[in-house]
Amino acid sequence: MRTNPLPAVFRRPGRPAVSVEFFPPKDAAGGERMLEVARTLQGSGVDFASITYGAGGSSRDTTLAYGRKLVAMGYAMVGHLTCVGHSRRELAELVARYDEAGFSGILALRGDPPKGQGAFVPHPEGFAHAHELVRLIHAERPGRFSVSVAGFPERHPDSPDDLSDVRHLAGKVAAGADFVTTQLFLDNSDYFRLVARARAAGVRVPIVPGIMPVLSLKQARSFCGFCKARIPAALERELEACGEDEEAQRRVGVRWAVAQARGLVAGGAPGLHVYVLNRSDSARELFAALRA
Ligand SMILES: Cc1cc2nc3c(=O)[nH]c(=O)nc-3n(C[C@H](O)[C@H](O)[C@H](O)COP(=O)(O)OP(=O)(O)OC[C@H]3O[C@@H](n4cnc5c(N)ncnc54)[C@H](O)[C@@H]3O)c2cc1C
Repeated sequence: MRTNPLPAVFRRPGRPAVSVEFFPPKDAAGGERMLEVARTLQGSGVDFASITYGAGGSSRDTTLAYGRKLVAMGYAMVGHLTCVGHSRRELAELVARYDEAGFSGILALRGDPPKGQGAFVPHPEGFAHAHELVRLIHAERPGRFSVSVAGFPERHPDSPDDLSDVRHLAGKVAAGADFVTTQLFLDNSDYFRLVARARAAGVRVPIVPGIMPVLSLKQARSFCGFCKARIPAALERELEACGEDEEAQRRVGVRWAVAQARGLVAGGAPGLHVYVLNRSDSARELFAALRA
């Protein structure tokens, strides 16, 4: 019986759990680059890695294939899994494959509607919401995985108000989620407000903030537009002041992420989940600054 290393990383007093998120590479060259980044980040105090699950097609197999490679490198691995286009039976099979691949955790997600489809439509034999997937994972492989779910500091775009948003978050935790990982945000007050709402709604599990060192104003606008995250005016001004100098913009992004991370840890965040965007430079600088 394998021991799952994840629960312990949230029980260490005084040291937040650090995780990094990769996305499945598009081709073999991208895969090599991603693995090189993963090698570089080993030894930077990273406790576990996660890998996203695509909207459909080949990237779904790539999640498993590259997740396996990261496990072989020694990473404790969280595989993302979404309900998009899957029946319960298919999801159960995928949970079994994640187990065989040696994953320690699963981030259970509903997923977004495929491009061009306005609202999320569940598979006729599938799930409408993430809490059902949380239950399925525990039923299929009892005690095997640390199960996490998504939280939204600026509330999920489909949620009509903060109250219903946090009620559904509490529902996912009641279904058996062991911790929450948040959507990226660039203003810490959004995270602390989510934590306050969640605690008031009875959520007691760790709520791990997701942060992304911004690479450039263009990248931030596109990424934040996709996630519906707000870019604080002060950050926008700093990035604009760099003009066309992309390296200067990247350095602003790292500085902002370092300040965010310090503020989050000082405010009691149980960990940091870093969206590394399959590159190592900004993440390494962030971790080095935090160690210093
Ligand atoms: C850390 C993180 C990682 C992610 N990784 C991926 C990934 O790898 N692949 C990918 O495709 N997407 C990913 N996403 C995006 C995610 O799939 C989308 O944000 C999706 O729209 C919502 O997923 P969810 O699991 O939060 O859904 P749900 O928890 O099902 O919530 C979706 C909406 O429904 C509401 N809701 C929840 N439960 C109920 C209920 N019982 N009754 C009525 N309403 C309810 C919620 O309030 C919310 O408005 C990630 C998001 C985060 C934060």
